[in-house]
Order: sequence, then C-alpha cells, then structure tokens
Amino acid sequence: MTVLCEIRRLAVTYRGETMPALKAIDLDIPGGERLAIIGESGSGKSTFARALAGLLPDGASVAGSLRWSADRPPRAGRDIGFVFQDPSASLNPVLTVGEQVAEGARRHLGLSRRQGEARALEMLERVHIPDPHKALHAFPHQLSGGQRQRVAIAAALAARPGLLIADEPTSALDMVVQAEIVALLDELVREGGMTLVFVTHDIALASGFADHVAIFRDGMLVETGATGKVLARPQAAYTAALIASHRDLATPPLIREAGR
Ligand code: ADP
Repeated sequence: MTVLCEIRRLAVTYRGETMPALKAIDLDIPGGERLAIIGESGSGKSTFARALAGLLPDGASVAGSLRWSADRPPRAGRDIGFVFQDPSASLNPVLTVGEQVAEGARRHLGLSRRQGEARALEMLERVHIPDPHKALHAFPHQLSGGQRQRVAIAAALAARPGLLIADEPTSALDMVVQAEIVALLDELVREGGMTLVFVTHDIALASGFADHVAIFRDGMLVETGATGKVLARPQAAYTAALIASHRDLATPPLIREAGR
C-alpha cells in the first residue's frame, strides 16, 4: 500500500474556540484506495476533511503535519476534488450546469471555452446525467437533488484530481438516491484510479464500499484499519458499540445489491 498523505499530530482549533475540534490525529491516507471517515455529528470529520484539502476557514489554527507523497502539496480544485453535503449550497444558482462543471477544468487545465464545454459534457455523461446536452444549459434548480449532487461530483472531478474528498455527500438525499450516489462514486474512483476519502456518520453505508475505515470521536481517532478487519474485530469498545447499533451491518449493504 502506498501512502498518499502521512498525517501526524494534526490538531485544529477554530478561531474563538478554546477546545480543539481535532486533537493529535495520526493517520495515513492510502493511495488509490477508499477510506471512510466515520463518526457522530461533531466528532471532527468535516474539520479533518477540510484540513486535508486546505479548506479550513481563516483563523483556524492548525498544528502537526501533513506529508504528501507528491513533490508539491496538492491544491484543492486541481489535485483535490471536494464534494459537499448539500449540492444546493455548493452550486451557484445563477450559473448554468455546463459553466460550473467546466469552470475548474478551464481554470486548472487551461482549456478554452469550447474545450471546457466539451469537458463538461464528457463529465455529465460520466456521472450518468440523463440528457447531458440539455443539462449543460440547465440551472441547478431545474434538477432534482440527486442530479444536483451528480453535477457537483462532475464539477469536482472535471480537472482530473487524484484525490476526491466527499463530505457526507449523500446525507441530504433520500435512501434510494443515496445508494445511487455511493455506487457512482465507487465507479468513478475505480475508473479513475483515484483515492477517495468519504466522510459519513453511517458506518453501514461506509462498510459497503470503503477499503479502510477511520473511526472518529470527540476530535480524536478511535481506531483505523482495513474495513473487514475493523468490523470483524473492533479494538475499541466505542467501535464495537457503533457496529452493534447497526443491525443492517450483518446483511449486505444496499450498494452491493444495487451496483454489482
Ligand atoms: P463533524 O463533521 O463530525 O460533524 P465538525 O468537524 O463539523 O464535526 O465539528 C467538530 C467540532 O468543531 C464541533 O464541536 C463543531 O461545533 C466545531 N466547529 C466546526 N466548524 C466550526 C467553525 N467554523 N467554527 C467554530 N467551531 C466549529
């Protein structure tokens, strides 16, 4: 296993806060694999995802180190694609879908307007938007929530990043659409040989497709390891309790039924 990023003693404290949101996280991000960051609300998952992408708000103080395997640190938008929980908030309501998907590719790959549009069309096809030609000229509000998240994923991947970070990308969607979006992310990262960091509060969802899991609680890493190993033999009582609270972990997750 190659390590894409070696994280050591990562700690984050937001401006004006006395308690750190993350405390001394040591974690390796496995290159070309799928890592799920799992924890309850407020456990520091988003903070971790943003710290990894360099997207923390101004004034957040960061300690510790991120050592990337690449020669230069990756840039969000170019080398790191980021998908947020709520596509309505991450998409611009006054720009067409085509313009938004093309934007990153034009900026980071230096594409012309026409090349950008071609790239947007290709990406809309890859995320299985029905009638991608029509979608190019649509505005976000004309699409369903699930379609909007597909567009946000297309935009995040348009500049061909090696790492995709998805922060609760299905939490705002209903169950069936959730499974479809997870299956789509699974397909895209496989095809592209990308690394995926998938943030979720749902251990059952994560266990369906992540190669590795990292369990967070109160800003700390409780345990990490290969998914099958952690599920079969959790080391921490907290992880065991999380698993026990999900009866459906014993049955095949939705994604296996839907996608394979
Ligand atoms: P999760 O993604 O697991 O729900 P977060 O990383 O969003 O957790 O939050 C971790 C802690 O940091 C929480 O206590 C939250 O209230 C706090 N927090 C998150 N964002 C900010 C912010 N911008 N300013 C101050 N505190 C924040």
